[in-house]
Amino acid sequence: MTRRRATEGQVLKVLLGQGAVIPCFRCRTAFVVGEKIEREHVLELALGGSDEPENWRYSHLDCHKIITNGSKATSAGSSKHRIAKVRRLRGENKPRIKRKIPSRGFEKRTK
Ligand SMILES: [Zn+2]
Repeated sequence: MTRRRATEGQVLKVLLGQGAVIPCFRCRTAFVVGEKIEREHVLELALGGSDEPENWRYSHLDCHKIITNGSKATSAGSSKHRIAKVRRLRGENKPRIKRKIPSRGFEKRTK
């Protein structure tokens, strides 16, 4: 009989079940069994970050969402924001040509 290979999620589940205290990379709250946990990349893949364990961190799904997309109020400081800025500075995003809306003019008053 061959041994089963364990997935990341299975290993985390076993470790948490054994009582391991693993804090979320973002909020520092210890994970609880059953919580949704995601692997994130400290330096975003889109910005040249490596997909190697040195660049991996584990955080709650929601904590990861906030760092990826920003908060409800702003995207400043988020990964999306950083990626867009780098692309803009590299000239990878072509500026959109603004279409001029023809003026309808004003009707002359006829009194
Ligand atoms: Zn968290």
